[in-house]
Amino acid sequence: GAVLILSARRPLRAIKQDLSTVELSNLKGAMIPTDKAPLELLPIIEEFNEMVGRLRHSSSNQKQFAATISHEFRTPLTVISGFIQSVLNRGEEQLPDHHKQALGIADTEVLRLNRMLSDLLDLSRADNQQLSIRREAFELIPNLEQVLKLAKAAYGNPITDNLKELPYLEVVGDPDRLVQCIGNLIGNAVKYSEKGSPIDLHVSSDDSKVTVCVSDHGQGIPADQLDTIFERFTRAEGVVLPKGESSTGLGLSIVKMLMEAMGGTVSVRSTVDEGSLFSLQLPLSDQP
Ligand code: ADP
Repeated sequence: GAVLILSARRPLRAIKQDLSTVELSNLKGAMIPTDKAPLELLPIIEEFNEMVGRLRHSSSNQKQFAATISHEFRTPLTVISGFIQSVLNRGEEQLPDHHKQALGIADTEVLRLNRMLSDLLDLSRADNQQLSIRREAFELIPNLEQVLKLAKAAYGNPITDNLKELPYLEVVGDPDRLVQCIGNLIGNAVKYSEKGSPIDLHVSSDDSKVTVCVSDHGQGIPADQLDTIFERFTRAEGVVLPKGESSTGLGLSIVKMLMEAMGGTVSVRSTVDEGSLFSLQLPLSDQP
């Protein structure tokens, strides 16, 4: 008797094992094979497999929805921004100051919305495996010089660097996306530090990889928050968002997603009240 019961349980165990691995992100592998299933369980397994099919359908609809929404919002925003610009340009002399100021604010907000939408679009494209990130060899320094120039123009903080001391460095990745990541990190360094606080961009390399560090002397991040800040829509508890600044909690999750898509990494070290150091690593290219 005991042998019989044991052997009848074996398929059940296998099914239990199959079920325990089902996740929304992995519905492809969630169907339970029907060939070895005991006859009495067949109707339930078939019903389960149909349910998985329905879930897959609605989950892909939902992902597509996010991508479509963020894409569709951008066109009207571009139109609005265009109108604001044209009124500002044409009315430079006639417009009363308070109108100019109001339009300026509207313009800034449109820009911010646009940036948020690009972030959302990137993330949902990455979820749908529709984001194409290059992995090509490129010269690092000119791209870093470009970031520095933009950052110095955008912020009042002094930004030091060691670019002049570096040898010729060729890395593998997506130059535009690397520029975006470093821009994000410098933006955060500025945002979470005192006004005018110095920021440093430091590059080093060994025989296989390059490390680009952005460091600040700002608020710092509590040790128990250092892992979660890379998750979407997450802010560090204990870090104060200065008045007038905005935050979505998306920036670092984008940096992480992009760096990993390029074959690189991002990491952080931080001390509260002293500052933070974010490091990006990319592989060196093998070609001479
Ligand atoms: P956001 O800045 O839009 O909130 P991020 O994903 O870029 O989103 O950052 C997540 C959180 O990590 C921030 O809300 C902030 O609490 C913390 N953080 C990021 N960069 C720094 C920094 N340089 N110094 C202090 N805290 C930081």
